[in-house]
Amino acid sequence: MKERVPTYEVITFGCQMNDHDSEVMAGMLESLGYEPAASTDEADVILVNTCCVRETAENKIYGLLGRLAHLKDKKGDLIIGITGCMTQRPEVARKIKNRFPQVDLILGTHNLHRLPELLLQARECRKRVIEVWEQAGEIVENLPIRRASKVKAWVNITYGCNNFCTYCIVPYVRGRERSRRPEDILNEVRQLVQEGYREVTLLGQNVNSYGKDLPQPTSFARLLAKVDQVPGLWRIRFTTSHPRDFIQELIDTIARCPHVCEHIHLPVQAGSNRILKLMNRGYNREYYLDLVERIRRAIPGVAITTDIMVGFPGETEEDFADTMDLVERVRFDGAFTFVYNPRPGTPAARLPEQVPDKVKSERIQKLIERQNEITLAHNQALVGRVEQILVEGESKTNPAMLSGRTRTNRLVIFPGPRDLIGQLVNVTVTGARLTHLEGQLPATV
Ligand code: SF4
Repeated sequence: MKERVPTYEVITFGCQMNDHDSEVMAGMLESLGYEPAASTDEADVILVNTCCVRETAENKIYGLLGRLAHLKDKKGDLIIGITGCMTQRPEVARKIKNRFPQVDLILGTHNLHRLPELLLQARECRKRVIEVWEQAGEIVENLPIRRASKVKAWVNITYGCNNFCTYCIVPYVRGRERSRRPEDILNEVRQLVQEGYREVTLLGQNVNSYGKDLPQPTSFARLLAKVDQVPGLWRIRFTTSHPRDFIQELIDTIARCPHVCEHIHLPVQAGSNRILKLMNRGYNREYYLDLVERIRRAIPGVAITTDIMVGFPGETEEDFADTMDLVERVRFDGAFTFVYNPRPGTPAARLPEQVPDKVKSERIQKLIERQNEITLAHNQALVGRVEQILVEGESKTNPAMLSGRTRTNRLVIFPGPRDLIGQLVNVTVTGARLTHLEGQLPATV
């Protein structure tokens, strides 16, 4: 009788960094002989990759652990593991250990590469395994990986962050900035092209400070120019940028490199200089507005998106008005908007004058409403234009349609044959929605 292949599921919360870590976890599990489970109920190993950037994310994860605990009551040999930014916080790892005896494996963000060994310990010895490293060690290269897409790939270039924005927990759970060696990044990109990948996104909490910590320091601009030379690569994207480190050399490099897409995600967070100072962002609104102008001058048609937070401690109506004014002046192509959320251990959580929830929700509604109008207007301005799309696959909302992105990172949904997946095609934009564009292939295709 053929032995049943053990199965796994990785449940991911949070940012692109976590999405990519989950791809590595899936790769390591498959190197141990596991296969993806058809459903959570059927999985033999369930890994939860956590996020702690907001309290809401943490509460969702506690809820999930409660449900998985019930699953384990029915399926005794199920192994439940938890990792990511939440468990990198010692007090949270302890809380999970005490509150969820059904959790067999607890790792942090610094020892992901230890997953196979620790999982085997938990499985073979049937005992709980808890290992969270306080400090990050050397970057471990060439870990097995199961990528979610066959067309585009995440490529880490840095880990951690040194910026210590006062509201942010990332530096405490992801450690200090560590850059991968350029040759390791270029080898990975070349390998990806050989495997048929056509687009890479260079990933880091702050890609703009890439290379400063290397024995032979280099810059993000130099790395980008080298990646642009990789034969067979059609598109390069990168995220996330910190405005303070977005130097002119980088702007000129993006403008010069044909494969670097015309989309820059440039979190501003607030429009008030007083709040930017309290956030320890390291720039003021004048600097940011000038940077946007220099980027738009050098890179015609570039899309600029951002992150904006409302309700930072002490934020007055005047401060918020400065944020709304900056939104009017920049007219972002899109924005992720957040309500300030105190994170334990961050300086901002200890600041006086925490803004009442009612005021926070009034401000976020106003911001979302106005930014949505601007985003839709940008999208509507593209109706009638022909855009080059990298076809990523079936549309998530309508499997009968295909979807892909413009070089400015706009999602386009259009009818077409499946054999176009992975191809670059020209699509005429026929309609515009807030979240995406609608398109048509030329009659001949
Ligand atoms: S740049 Fe600031 S907001 Fe971004 S990860 Fe680093 S500390 Fe957090």
